[in-house]
Amino acid sequence: MKVEEVKSTVKTQRISAHSHVKGLGLDESGYAISLAAGLVGQEAAREAAGIVVDMIRSKKMAGRAVLLAGPPGTGKTAIALAIAQELGNKVPFCPMVGSEVYSTEIKKTEVLMENFRRAIGLRIRETKEVYEGEVCELTPVETENPAGGYGKTVSHVIIGLRTAKGSKQLKLDPSIYEALQKEKVEVGDVIYIEANSGAVKRQGRSDAFATEFDLEAEEYVPLPKGDVHKKKEVVQDVTLHDLDVANAKPQGGQDVLSMMKITDKLRREINKVVDKYIDQGIAELVPGVLFIDEVHMLDIETFTYLHRALESAIAPIVIFATNRGRCVIRGTDDIISPHGVPLDLLDRLVIIRTLPYGRTDLEQILKLRVTVEGLEINPDALTALGEVGSRSTLRYAVQLLTPASLIAKTNGRNIITKADVDEIEFGISLDKGRSISGKCNSLYFRLNLDEFLCRIRSL
Ligand code: ATP
Repeated sequence: MKVEEVKSTVKTQRISAHSHVKGLGLDESGYAISLAAGLVGQEAAREAAGIVVDMIRSKKMAGRAVLLAGPPGTGKTAIALAIAQELGNKVPFCPMVGSEVYSTEIKKTEVLMENFRRAIGLRIRETKEVYEGEVCELTPVETENPAGGYGKTVSHVIIGLRTAKGSKQLKLDPSIYEALQKEKVEVGDVIYIEANSGAVKRQGRSDAFATEFDLEAEEYVPLPKGDVHKKKEVVQDVTLHDLDVANAKPQGGQDVLSMMKITDKLRREINKVVDKYIDQGIAELVPGVLFIDEVHMLDIETFTYLHRALESAIAPIVIFATNRGRCVIRGTDDIISPHGVPLDLLDRLVIIRTLPYGRTDLEQILKLRVTVEGLEINPDALTALGEVGSRSTLRYAVQLLTPASLIAKTNGRNIITKADVDEIEFGISLDKGRSISGKCNSLYFRLNLDEFLCRIRSL
């Protein structure tokens, strides 16, 4: 199984809006601190989420799932991400939207299966044998290299091993020298060389050591190839989906998808190898969080599949979210159910409600986003944006930050002022209420947008 060249397939874009969220921000007794770990307000929901984290840790969540229910922009995604972070910083978090399951090319269950596997991590621990050393300066040795080896070819870089007694020069294998050149290793770089592959990896700098190195005083110790200086544990975190992708074989066909098809057979094979790794103690499973937003968009077929999947031995923690109350379950004629979720699945859910934010909380959250996005805003502008947020939604107000900062820049400022917020809010952008009320003249809107684009292009 290919493990080394596995590339992460984490859906970073969807998570970036929540980069300020680092955890649930609870105190030792489980009470929410009003502003902590990047979360503001929403205390009751955060405390309930804390209980869920405790249940997961004490393995009492098997077969159950969480449902976050509340109006748009009330932090449902943020809380789900915070739950994942509370479980550990390498715990995978896979966000998806219910409507993603509908595709003309891929089966609904296939989409769900892929996302389930994105949310199951595997931590692989490997012990690699490495020569660890530091690159030191060496006056080019013409002929008399006591190491008798490659002094001449090495020119002015060698590897010096730091040992208890001091520094020692290594005899270099030509392949290692080549790798050094390829890596553009410089004097003073701290590197290690993998004994098995001879690969050279840079780890940092040690200028002091490079200058201290006294060649004359050193005893040359040739290190035979295969000698190991140190065993180093390398930890690699991947998801089951990363492994599927890395091991998918080209299937022929025109488009990229059919070329790299992940078949059920491949998944079974991967599972077998993973089980073997786990038995050998090389790897451990890290169940992550699968966040399914707009759960009311799923249909009865997918709910049935989810029911079964939740019971599987290696299921991730599934967190659903919705902003709907009672509605028809998709795929049924007219069965109405709370949140559009069948009653038997509802029975398995821990339901957490999120509530709309007050003005102070809105301003605090906006302030956090301003810091994370590296912007500056003056207090008037923050109050104005808070007002926009309470009139419209938090998400809409957050989205105005970047254009407002661009307006500020076109006016030669780094700090966002109230005038910038007004310009973007009344001249260029529309919240959903005004866009449908016809209060804004669309020609006026268009003209302003064109002018805005010209201005930012000239930046
Ligand atoms: P939707 O129903 O539209 O999916 P949502 O309830 O999932 O919305 P989020 O996307 O979590 O809402 O929130 C919108 C933005 O506000 C995000 O950038 C999020 O990180 C931030 N946010 C929401 N609630 C909080 C909070 N309590 N503390 C800090 N940031 C928050």
